Amino acid sequence: MIDLHESELAAVVEAIEAGDRFLCISHVGPDGDAVGSLLGMCDILRRLDKTALPALADGVPEGLRFLPGAETIVTAVNPDERFDCIIVLDASSPDRMGAVYRADVHDAVPLVVIDHHVTNTYFGDVNWVEPGCAATCQMLVYLARRLDVALTGTLAETLLAGIVTDTLCFRTSNTTPDVLSTATLLMEGGAHLAEITAQTINRKPFRSIKLWGEVLPDARLDDRVLWVTVSPEQLAAAGAAPEDLELSSTLSAVEEADISATFIQKFADDGTPAVECSFRAKPGFSVSDVAFALGGGGHPPAAGCTVPGALADAVPPIVALSLIHISEPT
Ligand code: 5GP
Ligand code: MN
Repeated sequence: MIDLHESELAAVVEAIEAGDRFLCISHVGPDGDAVGSLLGMCDILRRLDKTALPALADGVPEGLRFLPGAETIVTAVNPDERFDCIIVLDASSPDRMGAVYRADVHDAVPLVVIDHHVTNTYFGDVNWVEPGCAATCQMLVYLARRLDVALTGTLAETLLAGIVTDTLCFRTSNTTPDVLSTATLLMEGGAHLAEITAQTINRKPFRSIKLWGEVLPDARLDDRVLWVTVSPEQLAAAGAAPEDLELSSTLSAVEEADISATFIQKFADDGTPAVECSFRAKPGFSVSDVAFALGGGGHPPAAGCTVPGALADAVPPIVALSLIHISEPT
């Protein structure tokens, strides 16, 4: 059984018991673990007769709207609304909370961080960080048990969704016996594994594969770094948005590569170009250090960041940096 950070977990329990009105936040560009842990945390709080408002700066992606309670998630928080405590889930640094966290208004409210990223910057008043957990949703299984909240119904469903998506359905190298034990508890509580898998890992819109058709002919393999760039023109040709790419785990299966990356050209609201980078590493290699060095974060096998600039300028130095890391296996 995993050795949890007991004093931090106790501090989380204490903060929950002390408050009545909670704001819960997860990260920008939300994935299944972000939405699952956000909904799961709110479920836990409500079952303890507390009020909980779930907020996501970027809203819920289309593919995760099947999750029970997804429709209750807000994308803006009334600055006059008072909270006893803010709980932020699956976010490794404060910028990941996006605009739903307003430093000017929320600074005075106790901030509890619950996260499993090794790159977490410990930005809360309480920081419960478990890099040994494969998903923030796995941590919430342990939290619910401490709080005597039954792992049933919508709670079981949302927490299993986060574990399934962050482990690519129990295939990542951090899928420990503890991960399987928590998933077993959730299935015993009524969560539907086959349905969750069908709705997440095994589901893509047609425009995703059209986009793959646009970008894969130019895939590059430099030494053992495999990378793909995505331009605005390619997105337009496929009728796709950046979040439709979902190519990282497919690239990471390529036999000839140890590290893979996708680079998507994006633009800030003021038109400034930026490149969104998504990295994957085979077991024995790490990409979290590269991503962290570039201002992002993540886990050794999966990490990301966004850097300023156009693809042609930003990508070559990042590929070079990745090549350096490949020569220094972890
Ligand atoms: P993905 O490549 O699936 O978008 O992200 C892989 C992992 O890296 C996830 O754990 C995600 O939270 C983290 N990550 C991706 N982009 C960023 C970023 O810009 N900043 C930070 N801190 N983490 C990121
Ligand atoms: Mn996660």
